[in-house]
Amino acid sequence: MKQISLLSTAFFLLITYTMEAQDGIPQVTEVHEPVPPVVTPGVGTAPPSDAIVLFDGTDLSNWEKRDGNPAEWEVKDGVMTVMPRTGDIRTKQGFGDVQLHLEWRTPEVIKGEGQGRGNSGVFFMEKYEVQILDSYDNHTYPNGMAASIYKQTIPLVNACREPGEWQTYDIIFMAPRFNEQGRVTHPARVTVIHNGVLVQNNVEIWGTTQFIGLPQYTIHEERLPLRLQDHGDLVSFRNIWIREL
Ligand code: MG
Repeated sequence: MKQISLLSTAFFLLITYTMEAQDGIPQVTEVHEPVPPVVTPGVGTAPPSDAIVLFDGTDLSNWEKRDGNPAEWEVKDGVMTVMPRTGDIRTKQGFGDVQLHLEWRTPEVIKGEGQGRGNSGVFFMEKYEVQILDSYDNHTYPNGMAASIYKQTIPLVNACREPGEWQTYDIIFMAPRFNEQGRVTHPARVTVIHNGVLVQNNVEIWGTTQFIGLPQYTIHEERLPLRLQDHGDLVSFRNIWIREL
């Protein structure tokens, strides 16, 4: 009997609440917590106030080689450029879920074709590559073109600018989650906006980028460096900033 009266009270309260919500008491549906922190947006593509600036045109102090030695890419006139055969560079700091802004430029003078033309890449957690390539009127396998998840997902459209022009990537990367047994519980996901155009829409990453063979996941740390690729081409970068999510 007591249970029935409790149940009917709960039912009565639910009905009253629903009626109040529908009866036009606006406060019922207001949510007051949490209050988002204030972020001052940047002007144009400048970093917002809570971003970590990874390259502002002055030096490579936030970067190193994969063996931990100082990065050797060229910095000149506010731009950094791959110094071929000095190797990839990575951030000294590790990151997990992020929003990344990065500007890149492939050489104006076209040399090579397919994968040999303006090739670089941005690797999240050093493992998952969003391809950088001169894909302006340059045929290659589409899951290896600019803005592809390399050897995985083809971009929705080809939004490449002409060689020699600056291009932007705005990327939201969500790191994979693993359980205690080392199994993936949530694969990594990525959204890529290339020159203001959505090209990867919250797509799942199938595992570590592989040149040969199929991608697969191996358990790793929650935060790992961001890496830029030395593929032997003179690809340049500027205005790189990142926000931890
Ligand atoms: Mg590449």
